[in-house]
Amino acid sequence: MPRTDYLIIGAGIVGLSTAYHLKLEDPDASILVVDKAPGPGGGDTSKSAAAFRVFFTNRINFSLAHASVSFYRDVQMGGWDLQMRWVGYLFVADDRMMERLKPGLSWADKHGLNYEVLEPGVLEERLGLRVNVEGLEEAELMGAHNVVGGVLVRDAGVLMPDRLVSYYYEWLRSHNVSFAFNSRVRGFILKPRRPLGIEGEPFPWQDTRVEGVELDDGTIIEAGKKTIVATGAWTPYLLNPIGVDSYSRPKKRQIFTVKADTPEKRRALYAKGFNREGVSPMIILPNGAYMRPAPEEEAYWTGYSDELGRPFQLEEPPVPEERFYTYTLHPMISLYMPAFEGSTPASSWAGHYDLSFDGMPVIFEAFDSDLIVSAGTSGSGILKGDAIGSVTAAVALERDTVTLYTGETLKTEWLGLTGRLMEKEYLII
Ligand SMILES: Cc1cc2nc3c(=O)[nH]c(=O)nc-3n(C[C@H](O)[C@H](O)[C@H](O)COP(=O)(O)OP(=O)(O)OC[C@H]3O[C@@H](n4cnc5c(N)ncnc54)[C@H](O)[C@@H]3O)c2cc1C
Repeated sequence: MPRTDYLIIGAGIVGLSTAYHLKLEDPDASILVVDKAPGPGGGDTSKSAAAFRVFFTNRINFSLAHASVSFYRDVQMGGWDLQMRWVGYLFVADDRMMERLKPGLSWADKHGLNYEVLEPGVLEERLGLRVNVEGLEEAELMGAHNVVGGVLVRDAGVLMPDRLVSYYYEWLRSHNVSFAFNSRVRGFILKPRRPLGIEGEPFPWQDTRVEGVELDDGTIIEAGKKTIVATGAWTPYLLNPIGVDSYSRPKKRQIFTVKADTPEKRRALYAKGFNREGVSPMIILPNGAYMRPAPEEEAYWTGYSDELGRPFQLEEPPVPEERFYTYTLHPMISLYMPAFEGSTPASSWAGHYDLSFDGMPVIFEAFDSDLIVSAGTSGSGILKGDAIGSVTAAVALERDTVTLYTGETLKTEWLGLTGRLMEKEYLII
């Protein structure tokens, strides 16, 4: 029977960064990462828009993002090209969004983070943004308000998730971490600590441990120290059969790419005055639709986190919906960005957010700390990924605190269940 000290299920950003931090902290330990996909990052990590920002309303999310983005910056400066472009995030705000941004702005003020408030006229001039929409029929129908300003967050931008995945993967392989792909975990092996040899063990009254997992082909893998669940959107389905709640649920999310194929669209994509890249920032419109610049494709990736009528469920494989683009995304975008009226998508794909109840990751122990669950990345798992791995590794090492890449120390229980620092995240994009 294969045996390892730490068994990590899931080779997405969370599993990879957890393996990385475990190896740094416990170099002699054996670590095996298993994934049902044929290679690393084959789940939602590869579906990501991979935009990053050091800007949240929840204090812990802010710290996780700050630490991870600082780490990625140093990886990039160290010569591993993550294709990070510091284009910034532009929150185009109506009166309601401006209110929602206030906690993030006061955190940014307190920590000396760089942002700029822009007048509506500046957005109109640089991006061709329509700032006065009230009175338009479609604005009435959609309940849209005028733009009152923009908040340009500078510690933000976009990167390529496959470059980040390769960074961790290469590092882990060169540090003797093992991987098994095309290996779906079917379930957990639960054993009583004091077996009585009675059929049907373990019974609810027995002290039970997680010995390891069973794969689809019947292989059993034993974990000497910990079994770590980093299965993102699939987590509830893996934990449900053993009666453990993941406190997170999947919701489908879609991306449609739109080419900048007219002078007006190119003017927006290659907007001047926002950053040194000479590219538009990641734009978040007042109605929540976003436009992520992809200048290498001469396109924007567009998306929207729809809530109404979008069920919490896993779709396998998730398929992008043309109707969603036509009746939701396109009207939302073309209202504020008239240059994109009539645009049709050049390509599209879909994945899932793994949403926790408060928008913060959920990292906790079960079965007397044999099993560690790291879930609930809530749509920002790339940009918080390194720090999430660092906290998950600390929990696996049974530490009460963790020092992040920025030097900030957090209590691990703040991301857990018992000592959780509950603070609603309002900026899930
Ligand atoms: C459309 C879209 C846009 C996004 N945009 C952004 C963004 O701009 N910025 C950002 O930071 N984040 C973004 N995200 C979120 C981000 O992609 C996720 O938070 C992150 O990738 C989650 O990482 P993970 O490791 O938890 O999950 P995953 O990457 O999904 O990894 C989980 C892995 O577990 C494996 N697995 C599942 N079940 C089993 C099993 N039974 N046995 C073996 N293996 C299993 C899967 O194959 C998968 O590889 C976006 C997500 C989507 C879908």
